[in-house]
Amino acid sequence: MNALIEQAPKQLYLDGRFVDATDGPSFGVDDPGSEQRLCDVADGQSADAQRAVEAAVRAQPDWARTPPRQRGEILRRAWELMTERAEDLAAVMTMEMGKSLTESRAEVAYAAEFFRWFAEEAVRIDGRYTRSPAGGGRTIVTKQAVGPCLLITPWNFPLAMGTRKIGPAVAAGCTMIVKPAQLTPISMLSLTSLLAEAGLPPGVLNVLPSTSASRVVEPVLGDERVRKLSFTGSTEVGRELVRQCAPNLQRMSMELGGNAPFLVFSDADLDAAVRGAVTAKLRNNGESCVAANRFHVAEPVAEEFTRRLTEELGSLRVGHGLEDGVSVGPLVSIEQRDKVVELVADATDRGARATTGGSTIEGTGFFYPPTVLADVPPQARILREEVFGPVAPVTTFRDEEDALRQANDTEFGLVAYLYTRDLERAVRLGEGLRTGMVGLNTGLVSNPAAPFGGVKASGFGREGGAEGIEEYLDTRYLAVALS
Ligand code: NAP
Repeated sequence: MNALIEQAPKQLYLDGRFVDATDGPSFGVDDPGSEQRLCDVADGQSADAQRAVEAAVRAQPDWARTPPRQRGEILRRAWELMTERAEDLAAVMTMEMGKSLTESRAEVAYAAEFFRWFAEEAVRIDGRYTRSPAGGGRTIVTKQAVGPCLLITPWNFPLAMGTRKIGPAVAAGCTMIVKPAQLTPISMLSLTSLLAEAGLPPGVLNVLPSTSASRVVEPVLGDERVRKLSFTGSTEVGRELVRQCAPNLQRMSMELGGNAPFLVFSDADLDAAVRGAVTAKLRNNGESCVAANRFHVAEPVAEEFTRRLTEELGSLRVGHGLEDGVSVGPLVSIEQRDKVVELVADATDRGARATTGGSTIEGTGFFYPPTVLADVPPQARILREEVFGPVAPVTTFRDEEDALRQANDTEFGLVAYLYTRDLERAVRLGEGLRTGMVGLNTGLVSNPAAPFGGVKASGFGREGGAEGIEEYLDTRYLAVALS
């Protein structure tokens, strides 16, 4: 076993201790680049979920009373520890998830920034004091921790999707139960021991890897003392979880799927657009909710854009994420690769053509090459479904109206990218695109200091920015009668 994996915690984390699952079951975690078993991790059971709830509920009152500065300093220390140990955290992530070391290093830095950001936000939770309109009474508005939370994270950003929930929850004074993805529990468990080292008291954070998400999630949401769910994952599972929150009316944040359009107008700086396209498409091997899913290019520049994008994507090195010089690692699982293969086959069957890539790389590991598809017809499934792989379908538009119509023709609304040098058009489209975020002449919108989130089937709630902590705070007010 690799030394880093050997040292990493592999048990559940309940009430401040790493412990085995009830009756001791465990499950295997594999390296998608080598298809080798990395290690076994404790497999959380419903009894463990109940233990986690008890620990979180017990810790809640003291934690909410802990001075905000103290909570902030724990986060600040966690940021320092993540920064010091970035190389080790990145290597572990690459092994269990596949992305290249460069990608993993970028994720560790991004993930750590949420701790630094929310360390600063912890001491800025505010309220207000006003005189009532009639003059007699006073109104005191305060914000208080929501209470114990359930945080469910996906496999594609095993650390960052955790820190952008844990950071604001800690800052706000909430205790929590984290359910990491089954494919990537080691990164979250490594983060857990780091948070304990940073001084997080027992019971504040409880971590429950499991082979059965519903087995551990249902008892938690079924307990009315748990007051919030923050979920990042697919729209399908999100819908189911909204239903599960109905009986206890827990607050929810839903960071769901995307289908980002990337618009390139004739007046765009084409060099910048191609660079942005590579970033927006290939970040995280395309396994990102904010990955550009479809490229809509103005007819006069479509051929040139496709040629340049083909050149860029075709020159990237594919290989095991730990190897030097690799830009594109394997996809996370065989199922994920099969889905990419299926969507590419559907597009090519309908007349699209691959100008680079387009077929599976045979051999060990779930590799798929960066691919550009030209002449993609509007009926192709790849324009409607999240591809979650390094495939860039290119299609064209006639004019601005056509571009906006195509961009908005989706149930999703997470992010859109827009390349133009025309300020008036940028503002018109920036306001007309029905997404939570718009990248204007940039292929990267993720930023801990900005409110990340979607509209429509991409969910609701915001992570990061000044808005991020509000998701973990209840607004209350005290009506003061004065004679
Ligand atoms: P997923 O299948 O929805 O899983 C996400 C998490 O939910 C995992 O921890 C999973 O556990 C758990 N889960 C699955 N079924 C559940 C159930 N019935 N009850 C409770 N929890 C359940 O999504 P994924 O395939 O891991 O992640 C990819 C999706 O996440 C994409 O759609 C992507 O767009 C979205 N995403 C969105 C954002 C955003 O901020 N909007 C960011 C990143 C990813 P298991 O691992 O055990 O299945």
